[in-house]
Amino acid sequence: MVERRCISCWKVKDRSELIKITADYDSGNVVVSPNSITFGRSAYLCYNKSCIETAFKKNKLGKHLKTSIPNEVKGQLLDELRND
Ligand SMILES: [Zn+2]
Repeated sequence: MVERRCISCWKVKDRSELIKITADYDSGNVVVSPNSITFGRSAYLCYNKSCIETAFKKNKLGKHLKTSIPNEVKGQLLDELRND
């Protein structure tokens, strides 16, 4: 079991229970649920709205990934909730 920690609530969960967000090293793009060829600094969030909202307060996600987060990333994360 691969465990990761949500950056919003700090709960440790199995990787499959968290959304991965990666800042790609090459392009600098912030990618939600990247494929395996995307390498970069990553953060994890629970599949729930409050953890996603918290990640955008005080630029928590941006600080974690050490980059600025485009506005559309929040929408992509909320879409992940619908896909589940
Ligand atoms: Zn969480």
